[in-house]
Amino acid sequence: MPLIVNLRHLEEHDVLLRGELPLAELDLDTHDELVRVTSPLWHELTVQLLEDSLLISGSLRLKLECQCVRCLKSFERDLELNPWTCLLPLEGEDQVPVVNDCADLTPYVREDMLLELPQHPLCKPDCRGLEKTKTGKAQKTGGTDELIPSAWAELDKLKL
Ligand SMILES: [Zn+2]
Repeated sequence: MPLIVNLRHLEEHDVLLRGELPLAELDLDTHDELVRVTSPLWHELTVQLLEDSLLISGSLRLKLECQCVRCLKSFERDLELNPWTCLLPLEGEDQVPVVNDCADLTPYVREDMLLELPQHPLCKPDCRGLEKTKTGKAQKTGGTDELIPSAWAELDKLKL
């Protein structure tokens, strides 16, 4: 079931899109060997026609197979965007392309799914990895020391 909505139908009533988008159609290139998509994209979306835009809201879900960056173990993870909302303009520079009264939502779904992919997949948050390593440096986050004073500085500005 493609993620396509017919604007003529939308003029009459909201449209519910529910089903599975095949992996091949979602075509989510993770750019990462540690993360693979292993399921179709399950979606349940309501599309509303507003004055000059489309409002899409609902949920998106798929399964990932990840490899832990620390211990290299493979594990499965659900990636879910719920609620997911998206406002697509029908006019102006960023307008959604409409072909034969139909708008394809796939690129927008793909884009938001990509942003949610794990950057450094871990089998569990405190995975210790394959073996003990003396990585005292890795524990230090570095930025923290600078972050706190600047946060206070921002607060001071607000007080003024
Ligand atoms: Zn691990």
